[in-house]
Amino acid sequence: MSEGGADINPGKLNQEQLDSLRLETSHLSPKEDAEKKKTIGNANHDLLNVYGNYIRKPYSDTEAAQRFLLMDHDTLGTFTHEWIKDPSAKGTETTQPPDFLTFSKSAGELVAGSAKDLWEGYSQQEKEYIVQTVGVDEDILKKRIDTVYSYGTYVHELSHIYQDKRIHGLFLELAAYYYGFHMQKATHGLMLTNTEEQARYNFYQGLIDNYGEDVHKLVFGSLVNDGESLRNDPRALKILAEFTPEVERQLFTDMKTAPLAKQRQDEPTHL
Ligand SMILES: [Zn+2]
Repeated sequence: MSEGGADINPGKLNQEQLDSLRLETSHLSPKEDAEKKKTIGNANHDLLNVYGNYIRKPYSDTEAAQRFLLMDHDTLGTFTHEWIKDPSAKGTETTQPPDFLTFSKSAGELVAGSAKDLWEGYSQQEKEYIVQTVGVDEDILKKRIDTVYSYGTYVHELSHIYQDKRIHGLFLELAAYYYGFHMQKATHGLMLTNTEEQARYNFYQGLIDNYGEDVHKLVFGSLVNDGESLRNDPRALKILAEFTPEVERQLFTDMKTAPLAKQRQDEPTHL
């Protein structure tokens, strides 16, 4: 980290600046970094394979992996608070504290952070219960959970990169949860959700059941053209209107005091 921070807009860095920032902030060896980038590239490949038709400007797998700055949690805090002075460039995320932040308000989206260790977050009792239920060795189980969880997290963040930023933050959050879990299931055969996350998944699945592929088109920016307002598109309005303040409160109970929820309340409309 540089002394005194810097005034940078992550979305406007060129490749050289991005690489130098990566070197300064990474907690990984070059080998680990390359391995994780490969996983991110694979996650991008899988996401595009299923949803690529709805995504307006897909990145190649290598480009997508380049959009990630993998750093530990403390560095992410310093990076966010001391480096990024321009509030409009700051990222948004709902988990508190966040695993990742997406910086997406300006052109060229960037994701900073790292997937947390889900297994270590479980209590001893929970670990024993899971090991008994699944019936495999703890080391194998831990590895499997890490693999599936980090994969889902990368897909979640990648979907943020591709989302239409005209849509408000919590709806985009809902969508990112869906795509992360959906791809976990499609690729690894299971979804690592808690009760609230499962409810988010189910709600979004309900939207897809009702409105079909318009939901994916809306979220990935291919339903309403650039320069046109979502408010003038009846299909977009209908879908977004389903996410009422009441639904929002039910699905994001942990978000009551978070900055994003506050920002949402200050906004005059839900678009
Ligand atoms: Zn998110």
